[in-house]
Amino acid sequence: MIKLTKGPEPEVLINNKGRWTRDLLAAIEEGNAEKIRAVTKRYNHSEVKTALKEETRQKCAYCEANVTDVAHGDIEHVAPKSISRDKTFEWENLTFTCQICNQNKSNKEGFVDPYKEEPDEHIFFAGAFAKGKSLKGTLTVAELKLNRIALIESRNREIERYADQLEKVFLIPDERTKELLLASMLNELDGGRPEFIAACRMVLSQYR
Ligand SMILES: [Zn+2]
Repeated sequence: MIKLTKGPEPEVLINNKGRWTRDLLAAIEEGNAEKIRAVTKRYNHSEVKTALKEETRQKCAYCEANVTDVAHGDIEHVAPKSISRDKTFEWENLTFTCQICNQNKSNKEGFVDPYKEEPDEHIFFAGAFAKGKSLKGTLTVAELKLNRIALIESRNREIERYADQLEKVFLIPDERTKELLLASMLNELDGGRPEFIAACRMVLSQYR
């Protein structure tokens, strides 16, 4: 997990969230389950999803795997929509995740929020393994199953790739060239696009 920054709110939410929230609360008041479901689904708008994907750079906000290579991915409610109904259409409460993290999180709360918190303060990486640095970090790793086998394998592959690059850089005798190559590796990670940046940064921290 890495720190994420909220992008601009899509027009469709700005223009409709007030009405949609009123409709939803009215359906809840009515106790009309079918209507509740129908109104709730309005958050799942292509404009919203596109904006969220931009924000997470097509990756899962929780596990940092590339989602869009193999799946459509899910719009995820940080505060669960089944509990915080009034936040169903709130831009600040939406993010983009893989289906597995979304299902693992379900209607649970109390996890590290990559928008409001610095994930590095709660989760660290021992090689490919995510580990808690705080109670909240440990809970997040355990409940979202951030050490599931498929993730460990993918993370390991990326870590090895960075470690291989770093090993070659260490062998370069010219200090200036070395610095330039290291800076470009760090830049790539800072750009936010590669998978598993949080774990790969641990590898690059070795050069300091
Ligand atoms: Zn995920």
